Amino acid sequence: MSAEPRTVTITTIDRGDVAIPCPAWCAGHAHHDPETEYADIIHSGPESTLTFGYTTLLTAGLVQSPHATDATPGLGGRTPGVSVHPLGKTLGPVGLYELAAALDTYADHIRDLADQLDTLLAGGDQ
Ligand SMILES: [Zn+2]
Repeated sequence: MSAEPRTVTITTIDRGDVAIPCPAWCAGHAHHDPETEYADIIHSGPESTLTFGYTTLLTAGLVQSPHATDATPGLGGRTPGVSVHPLGKTLGPVGLYELAAALDTYADHIRDLADQLDTLLAGGDQ
């Protein structure tokens, strides 16, 4: 396996075709829009998806815009982050741990509701 960075050539609205190196985690640019500006080129990794039934509740995946001109908090930038939907934010490690903790807490609430409903349906006193 080569240690050379993988390079892709993609079309931009302001600079035409550009060759850019992709990080190892980038899933490629198959869905790239040629109307994209150079500064808005984004590397995206595979998404981790939380689906229940047929509903997608949460998706998260690595992103990086290596040519971003200004770092807008919450909208990604030159530093890799994890884009989370439907939150609509790109989080760093601290934000991701906070999200994981919130999901843990929420899972506990769902189990408490299940316990309460189970007791209720069994004729319990709740
Ligand atoms: Zn890429």
